[in-house]
Amino acid sequence: EIPEAPATTGHPKQLYMLFFAEMWERFSFYGMKALLLAYMVTELKFDEPKGYAILGSYAALVYTMPLLGGVMADKYLGYRKAVLYGGILMSIGHLVLAVPEDWSFFIGMAFIICGNGFFKPNISSLVGTLYTENDPRRDSGFSIFYMGINIGAALGGLLCGYVGQQINWHYGFGLAGIFMILGLIVFAIGRKSLKEKGLPPDPATLNKPLFAGISTEIFIYAGSLLIIPIIVALFHRYELMDIIMFGLGAISLGYILYIAFQLESIARNKLFAALVMIIFSTLFWAFYEQNAGSLNLFAMRNVDMHVAGVELPALAVNNFLPPAWVIVLSFFFAWLWPALNRKGLEPSTPLKFGLSFILLGLGFCVFYAATVWGAESGHISLAAFIFGYFFIICGELCISPIGLSMVTKLAPAKIVAMMMGIWFFASAIGEFLAGKIGALMSVPENVVDNPVLSLPYYADIISKIGIYAIGFGILLMLLGPLLRKWMADVR
Ligand code: GLN
Repeated sequence: EIPEAPATTGHPKQLYMLFFAEMWERFSFYGMKALLLAYMVTELKFDEPKGYAILGSYAALVYTMPLLGGVMADKYLGYRKAVLYGGILMSIGHLVLAVPEDWSFFIGMAFIICGNGFFKPNISSLVGTLYTENDPRRDSGFSIFYMGINIGAALGGLLCGYVGQQINWHYGFGLAGIFMILGLIVFAIGRKSLKEKGLPPDPATLNKPLFAGISTEIFIYAGSLLIIPIIVALFHRYELMDIIMFGLGAISLGYILYIAFQLESIARNKLFAALVMIIFSTLFWAFYEQNAGSLNLFAMRNVDMHVAGVELPALAVNNFLPPAWVIVLSFFFAWLWPALNRKGLEPSTPLKFGLSFILLGLGFCVFYAATVWGAESGHISLAAFIFGYFFIICGELCISPIGLSMVTKLAPAKIVAMMMGIWFFASAIGEFLAGKIGALMSVPENVVDNPVLSLPYYADIISKIGIYAIGFGILLMLLGPLLRKWMADVR
C-alpha cells in the first residue's frame, strides 16, 4: 500500500514523478508539433494543402492510437509497462526526426504516433490510481497534472520553436528528443515508487509463451511495430485517411449506441448526454487546433512580431502563448468554479461546453477585427494576437478538463476506460477536420511573401470560424435543458 499524505496536507509523492515525466513528454510532443507544418512547407517544399493534410493525418493518428494503447494496457500490459514502452517508441521517433535525411520524416512521425498511443492515456490512468474513488484530492490531482502538461508544452513550444525556426529544423527536433528521453528516465527510475500500482492485471498470461516460445508481452511489442510501416504507407496515400477516420468515427458511434440501448433508461440517457457533448468537442478541437496549423503560418506571415526593436520568433510565440495562458488562467478557474458553486451559480457541464464555444468564437473575432485593422500593413499587432488567445484559452478551460471529468461521471463504470479512449478519439476527428479547415487557408505560392495579399486568405476563414463557433455555442446552450434532464443527478 502506498503511504498517502493526509488528505489536507498534499498529494501522494508519486504524483510529482508522473507530473515531471508527462511534463517532459509534452515538451517534446508540442515542441515538435510547433515545427511540423512550417518545416513541411518551407523546408520540404510541400504545397500547403498537402502540408495541412499530413499535419491533420499525423495529429488524427496520434489521438486515435490511445484507443489501442488503452485497451492493451487494461487487458495485458498494465499501465506501467505501456508507458515505458510508449516512451521508448516516442524517444526513437524524435531522434529519427532529428536525422537530416528525407526518409526520416514519415518514419519518425510513425514512431511518435505509435508511442503516444501507449504513453498518453496510460500515464493519465496512473494518476487516477493514486487516489481512491472518492478521495477529495482527486480533481485537484488532475489539475496539477494538467499544469505539468502545459508547463512542458509552453517550454517545448518556446525552445523548439525558436531553435527549429531560427537555427536548424533538425536541431529543433533533436532538442525535443533529448527532453523526451529525460521524461523517459524520470519514469523509468520513478516507477518503482508506484509499488503495486499499474502492474499487469495477469502477469502469468503475459509471460506465458504464446507461440514458438515467444510471450504475449513480446508479441504485443512486436505487433505494434508492424503498425509503423502501415502508418508510413498511409502518409504516402493520405487521401485514404478520409475513409479511415470517418469509418472509425461511424463504427465508434454505432458501438456506443449499441451499448446505450442495452442499458436501463437512466444510464442510457446519461450516456446519450455524454455522447452529444463528445460530438460537440470534436468541433471545438477542429477550430482550436488551428493553433498548431494555420495560425503557425499566419504568425510567421501576418503578425507583427516586433517588440522594442527586436523581432520575436513567430513559431516560438505562437506555440508558447496557449499553454502559457492555460497556466495563468488555471489559477483563475480554480478559484472561479468553487466560488460560483458556493453561491449556487456554477454553470452545469452543458452550459460550460456552450460557453467554451462562445469564448473560442470571441477569440477568433478578435483575430478577425485585428485583420480588418491591419489590412493596410498586412500585419496584426502582437497585442491583438495575445488578447485573442486569452479568449480561446478561457474556452479550452471550459471544455478540456471539464470533459475529462464529465466522461468519468456520465459513462457506466465498466466502460469508463473505453469512453476515455473515445474522448481522445473525438480530438482525433477534430484534428483531422482542423487540417481540412486549415487547407482552406492555403496561400498561393506567388503571394506568400506579400503580407498585404496573404492576409485576406486567413481573415475570411478566421471570421467564419468565429461566427460558427458562437453559433454552435448558442445551439449547445439551447440543448442545455434537454442534456441536463438526461444527466439526471449529475451536474
Ligand atoms: N492539451 C491537452 C494535452 O495535451 C489536451 C489535448 C486534447 O485532448 N486534444 O493533454
